[in-house]
Amino acid sequence: MSRVAEISAALAGYDPKALSVDGVQAFLASLVEPAILRERERVPLFEALGRVLAEDVISPFNVPPHDNSAMDGFAFDGAVLDALPAPGEISLRVAGTALAGAAWRGALSKGEALKIMTGAVMPAGFDTVVPQEFCRIDGDTVRFPADALRRGDNRRFAGEDLMQGRPALLQGERLTPAGLGLLASLGQAEACVVRRLRVAYFSTGDEILSLGEAPREGAVYDSNRYTVFGLLTRLGCEVVDLGMVRDDPAALAAALSDAALRADAIITSGGVSVGEADHTRAVMRQLGDMAFWRVAMRPGRPMAVGLVPKGDGAGAGAAVLFGLPGNPVAVMVTFLAFVRPALLRLMGCNASNAAPPPMLRARSVASIRKKPGRTEYQRGRVTCTPGALPEVRIAGNQGSGVLSSMVEGNGLVVLHHAQGSVAPGDEVDVMMFDGVV
Ligand code: AMP
Ligand code: MG
Repeated sequence: MSRVAEISAALAGYDPKALSVDGVQAFLASLVEPAILRERERVPLFEALGRVLAEDVISPFNVPPHDNSAMDGFAFDGAVLDALPAPGEISLRVAGTALAGAAWRGALSKGEALKIMTGAVMPAGFDTVVPQEFCRIDGDTVRFPADALRRGDNRRFAGEDLMQGRPALLQGERLTPAGLGLLASLGQAEACVVRRLRVAYFSTGDEILSLGEAPREGAVYDSNRYTVFGLLTRLGCEVVDLGMVRDDPAALAAALSDAALRADAIITSGGVSVGEADHTRAVMRQLGDMAFWRVAMRPGRPMAVGLVPKGDGAGAGAAVLFGLPGNPVAVMVTFLAFVRPALLRLMGCNASNAAPPPMLRARSVASIRKKPGRTEYQRGRVTCTPGALPEVRIAGNQGSGVLSSMVEGNGLVVLHHAQGSVAPGDEVDVMMFDGVV
């Protein structure tokens, strides 16, 4: 049995003509083997942003390495606070100064204080720092009100950020700016990451013009090539741009085989709807192990998914093919809902890093018509007012070809499969896409 047939047979209630969004996600979870990429490489930190860690990073030492001061002020033994009933004034002799980067080596006695800078090592036996703004200095004596602080205040503990021997970052995490900083704080100039996922893409359709071509009646410029490029680049994929492919079986077959050889995954747009006059579906079926669906969603109904072998040799592997609908908004929505999580898994992300970002709850300012029995993704603009739930208004014309709605909106209002119409003031789920698309 083919892989696609196997997965379909195992899915309860699988109906390619009316597949739910959940059904698509379940199918893809089986089709897309996590971490097919075993190849790893070491890259300098400046090149590691967005890359996926190929191994756990264990902290070789404590960060910070010593107990240290969180403030500019005076370190002292906090026992003196316990000894003095508040309100009262503490008065301590200042024995010297500890600068950041150099530990105080001199002797200290209990009734003394040490002038200390932020980040400087706490002297042994001293556990509290009074910030300098609370202090009056009088010769070599420092005075401050006893009720200004409690014992242990303004001291940072060794290892409170990263503990020696514990994992600082986990295999399958995508490196964020914070992750880069964390690796740097461990003194690591490089990260061991999974090879970048290679994704090839092309657009199809005889009515589609490439940029630079003269306009002609009935034709539109190829916008999908650019949105898909942007979506993949944001994800940190290596892109293989195969441009615009003519609606001709030989050209389509050549493009698809070439894409499978050169990439781990392939994204096409257009030509997958039922009753298409063009050849895309036929060529996909001929070359790959494919499923063709009508997904119960809006926008983005037609979709094809499958595996295209990398050449004839057994064991050469296969590229995962996502045949997306042609409509420009449908391309983006199906990418966000299905392709992005699948690619993240292919990239080697662990489950939490491959999961879609958490949805936001927002109050719809207006009514939204919605039929139960399909999932709708409406473009919305979320705004926030202090002290209230965020508000969302539907952004512009919701046609699946109206790309300007994706520019106007900052999130997709997700109206779930069983959900009906929304009344003004009702709460809805929003998949925020600022910074993602
Ligand atoms: P299809 O899925 O091929 O039936 O295409 C659906 C709609 O999307 C048609 O109106 C196409 O003109 C449009 N379309 C398909 N591909 C592109 C593209 N690359 N850029 C812009 N519009 C497209
Ligand atoms: Mg078409």
